[in-house]
Amino acid sequence: MGKFVSWLRSLLLLEMLRGLGLTLKYLFRPKYTLMYPMEKTPQSPRFRGLHALRRYPNGEERCIACKLCEAVCPALAITIDSAPREDGTRRTTRYDIDLFKCIYCGFCEESCPVDSIVETHVHEYHFENRGENILTKPKLLAIGDRLEAEIAERRAADAAYR
Ligand code: SF4
Ligand code: SF4
Repeated sequence: MGKFVSWLRSLLLLEMLRGLGLTLKYLFRPKYTLMYPMEKTPQSPRFRGLHALRRYPNGEERCIACKLCEAVCPALAITIDSAPREDGTRRTTRYDIDLFKCIYCGFCEESCPVDSIVETHVHEYHFENRGENILTKPKLLAIGDRLEAEIAERRAADAAYR
């Protein structure tokens, strides 16, 4: 009986008619296609894009070289070297993120006790030369300096959920 019903459905092209009906249903509805990059979808303040290292308002870098982000990174994308400074504080001498390894999970951002390493909204970037996939400390700090106002705003908007 089951085989007969299946044969009958095939014969009457019921699946195809249902598919065409669905097409017809959406034919006159508003379209969802965006004219990217001129048009863009809204973005959550939690969006995880290109990384940045932040500074305090007095210009001092936030990172204290605790290496929690390096330890928690599941992709082993972060490499940190550190050394004490003359004033006895500890700072990184090397902070690299390999964007080819990174899976943008956000664990580094969540683990940081001083809100130093963050992921920005930036998702449109490309590399033109070998090695540009490594974000070095100066590059990360430069991104942080450029986007600090926006980073602070987004973190404030999301503060109640952290
Ligand atoms: S986002 Fe995830 S994978 Fe990328 S560097 Fe941070 S912890 Fe590692
Ligand atoms: S970015 Fe944050 S978690 Fe990573 S080493 Fe610096 S202070 Fe520690």
